[in-house]
Amino acid sequence: MLVKNEQQQLAVIDAEQSDVLIVDDQLSHLHSLQALLRINGYRVSLARSGGEAITRLQDHDYQLVLLDLQMPGIDGLEVLEFIQQAALPLEVAVISGETSFTSVKDAIRLGAFDFIRKPYHPEELLTTVSQGIERYRIKTALMRDEQAKKESERLHHFIVNNSPDFIYMLDARGVFTYVNAIVEDLLGYKRHELLGKHFSTLIHPYNAAEIHKFFSEQRTGERASHSVEVRLRVNPDNDRVNSLENSELVFELSAVGIYEEDQRGEKVFLGTLGSARDITERKRTEDRISHQAYHDLLTRLPNRLLFNDRMDQAFAHARRSGQNFALIFMDLDRFKLINDTLGHVMGDRVLQLVSERILDCLRAEDTLCRFGGDEFSLLLPNISSRESVSSVAEKILKAVRQPFQVNNHELYLSLSLGIAMYPVAGETRETLLQSADIAMYQVKNDGKDGYCFYSDMLEGGSDFISAERDMYYALEKNQFQVFFQPKVDPETNIIVGMEALLRWQHPARGLLYPDDFLATAEESKLIVSIGDWALRRICEEVLRWQQQGLPKIKIAVNISSVQLEQDDFVERFIRTIQEFDLPADIFEVEISEQSLLRGLQQLGKKINCLRDYGVSVAIDDFGRGYSSLSYLQNIPINTLKIDRSFVRDIDENHPQALIVDGIAMMAKGLKMNLVAEGVENLLQLDYVRELGCQEVQGYLYGEAVSAQAALSLMKSRPSDGPHFILPH
Ligand code: C2E
Ligand code: CA
Ligand code: CA
Repeated sequence: MLVKNEQQQLAVIDAEQSDVLIVDDQLSHLHSLQALLRINGYRVSLARSGGEAITRLQDHDYQLVLLDLQMPGIDGLEVLEFIQQAALPLEVAVISGETSFTSVKDAIRLGAFDFIRKPYHPEELLTTVSQGIERYRIKTALMRDEQAKKESERLHHFIVNNSPDFIYMLDARGVFTYVNAIVEDLLGYKRHELLGKHFSTLIHPYNAAEIHKFFSEQRTGERASHSVEVRLRVNPDNDRVNSLENSELVFELSAVGIYEEDQRGEKVFLGTLGSARDITERKRTEDRISHQAYHDLLTRLPNRLLFNDRMDQAFAHARRSGQNFALIFMDLDRFKLINDTLGHVMGDRVLQLVSERILDCLRAEDTLCRFGGDEFSLLLPNISSRESVSSVAEKILKAVRQPFQVNNHELYLSLSLGIAMYPVAGETRETLLQSADIAMYQVKNDGKDGYCFYSDMLEGGSDFISAERDMYYALEKNQFQVFFQPKVDPETNIIVGMEALLRWQHPARGLLYPDDFLATAEESKLIVSIGDWALRRICEEVLRWQQQGLPKIKIAVNISSVQLEQDDFVERFIRTIQEFDLPADIFEVEISEQSLLRGLQQLGKKINCLRDYGVSVAIDDFGRGYSSLSYLQNIPINTLKIDRSFVRDIDENHPQALIVDGIAMMAKGLKMNLVAEGVENLLQLDYVRELGCQEVQGYLYGEAVSAQAALSLMKSRPSDGPHFILPH
């Protein structure tokens, strides 16, 4: 209880900011009350009737109303009703002569907090007034708190529901008691569908087992789950879900256990509060990036990088366990042909189909990798017997032999497989790969479509690295090169043509010349493939010259008799030129006189055919074979190329080089062009020019140079002046 002067102090403090409305129909009462309250510092308003009171209440905020109940017209109870209905936040004390219990009860029911009977004691009245003001204070403060709390709850709610994260609460059994609105967008569930359900409905089976523990986290603080990756299942009934890909989302989950103290002060687990952020997009990008780094885009097979890693694992495992493994190197036979004839798109499709077929023959632990192009390599871990490796190889060969259906084309393919077993064929990645590679080339040489163990080759003798296989390898590995030697008009010293000459950049033996390998290439008929390759290379280069705006010059291509013998030689030659969209009349094929003399089948017909297309034909190394005039008359030859041995003979000691003179006469008689090769000095040049040679080739003007150097040479020459200035 407050002592009196404290009460008065309180009243003074209260009074200063307090508006009191006194409602009474008796003027004397009104005035005495007004005087009493004013003396005590209250701001006072008066109303002489219920109606006036209501008007004032509508216009002004009061903290306290002292209300007489008995008034004519609108009485005190009606005023109370009005206050209640309008929910005015003020306090009402009833002051009345009325003593009936019912009216007091009614007044209290209608919200009055106190009842003072007339006549009142001023002290008693002041106490009531200050109590009323105090009540008002407390009530409004509470209301403000409540309001603030509501506001903050609303804000909280807003934040939670508009959070991009999935926020949930579980009870102790793991049943959802709260999920925020985003769950509908993210996982395609209505909130009410999840509430009351066990959380495991959402856990995607791809997760590790402990994810359940994390999701229904019981731990708190540091030990609780932070940023755990979890896959949640999207509502399978949702329209959005139409593939395995979008059946799940990846979240980064953080969750804590919630506890409450019971009466005995012990902590009781209430449930889990969790928040999960959708990181699916980020994950997919990351996965894509790492997948791309380790896989071949076309076939989705592991690439060399990943393969190397698997190989290292296989080595480690083999060393630990003593188990062996096999490495198989595979190359599609004649894949180039598919690419060249059907185009790259089809070629790509074929590679995909082939990789699928091979995969079908494998166990889960085997690794198939695309090394690039049409090369695949296969790692078979934990395989010891040759027989089981053979059976895998046979299975693969059989699968690939089945016709492929690509865009209405029926394609027949085959593979060449080289097998290297660890440790016999090698104990490091490099040696093993090399062994498999060499074994594969053995298969290629033996007619393709098969397999070969490297170890068998070792038994076969030491000459297994034959020049032939070496050359096959060279072709596959792009070790051949085409060089160009200028052909010059000796009158103007302008380059009028180029002869394409083959070189082999051998990894061990350096730059090789045709003399070193041509014989083997012809014996093995590899010259056919090499020639095809060379022509393509030449066309590429000529195309580049064209694109660089260089003047049109003739290009001489050497053709060996083995190439000429092929039935489809002319057809293939022409097709290649057309493929590159190059005019036929810039090409001159050089056929050695020896080839002519061999009496090749249908040679005349083939030469005629080439001529019909516009390709020129030259007889190379002319003079060595002593061709008869009659023979030459029967086939349409454009050019005679004097063999360089006769040009060499032109020197001071032999002023009359009879053979050269004879050849020149012959050419003139047959109306053929005359070309001299092997011109090394000015004497020789003068001589052949006098003889009427339209074109001259030789070290005097320059030897054969790489394609790159040939291009620079042509680009550096003036378009109107001589290309060579010779001393005289
Ligand atoms: P070839 O057709 O008689 O080519 C001329 C050869 O003489 C070239 O030798 C050339 O480098 C060389 N040579 C050029 N100027 C001089 C010179 O002033 N002095 C001397 N001593 N030699 C000179 P290379 O490149 O070694 O070619 C040798 C032969 O290989 C060629 O003789 C040709 O029959 C054949 N060959 C070259 N490339 C190819 C090709 O792509 N396909 C075929 N089938 N045969 C080719
Ligand atoms: Ca030649
Ligand atoms: Ca020649």
